Amino acid sequence: MKNSILRSLQGIVGEEFVSNEAEELFLYSKDLGSGRSGRLDYVVVPGSVDEVQKVVKLAGQEKIPLTPVGAGLNLSGLTISAQGGVAIDMKRMDNISEVNESSRYVVVEAGVTVGKLIAHLKKNLPNYVFPCRMHRPQPPLRQMQYSMGPAICPNTVFIRR
Ligand SMILES: Cc1cc2nc3c(=O)[nH]c(=O)nc-3n(C[C@H](O)[C@H](O)[C@H](O)COP(=O)(O)OP(=O)(O)OC[C@H]3O[C@@H](n4cnc5c(N)ncnc54)[C@H](O)[C@@H]3O)c2cc1C
Repeated sequence: MKNSILRSLQGIVGEEFVSNEAEELFLYSKDLGSGRSGRLDYVVVPGSVDEVQKVVKLAGQEKIPLTPVGAGLNLSGLTISAQGGVAIDMKRMDNISEVNESSRYVVVEAGVTVGKLIAHLKKNLPNYVFPCRMHRPQPPLRQMQYSMGPAICPNTVFIRR
C-alpha cells in the first residue's frame, strides 16, 4: 500500500496512533473464535469524531476497506478484513458525555465498554439499569469488555428496546 496513505493517516491521528508494523497488524488480523486470519495494511486508533471522519473520508477517496474494531471480542471473524485496508480501533474514544435522567438516555462514544457504562450508572444513578442482555447471563469481567459501538450497530448484545 502507498506510503502516502501512511503519511496521511499519521497526519490525522498522530504518529503514535497508526501502525503498519507486522506485529501489530497480526493482533488485528485474527479473533478469539473463528480460527480465520485476514490481511490488513494499517491500524489506526482515533481520539475524536473529527479524526474518525477524516479517516473514513481518506479510505473513501483511496477506495480502501475500513473495518471498525471495538473490543475485538466477537467470535465469528467480524473484525477480520479479507481484503486488507485499515482497522479503526475505537478504544481511545471512551467518554461518557451525558446521562439524561428525565429522558432516560446516555450519550457515549463508540469505544465505551458496556462495563464502564454499567459502573458509571451504578455509581451515579443506582436506580437505573442498563437494558442489555445476552443469550445467557454473562460473567462480569466479560461485561467490562465489549463496547457500545457493536452493542448498538450490529446489535450483538441485544439491547432491549
Ligand atoms: C467468551 C465469549 C462469549 C460470548 N458470548 C456471547 C453471547 O452469549 N451472546 C452474544 O451476542 N455475543 C457473545 N459473544 C460475542 C461478543 O461478546 C459480542 O459480539 C460483543 O458485542 C463484541 O463486542 P466488541 O466490542 O468486542 O466488538 P468487536 O468484536 O470489536 O466488533 C463486533 C462487530 O462490530 C463492528 N464494530 C465495532 N465497532 C463499531 C462501531 N463503532 N460502529 C459500527 N460497527 C462497529 C465490528 O466491525 C464487528 O463487525 C461472546 C464473546 C466471547 C469472547
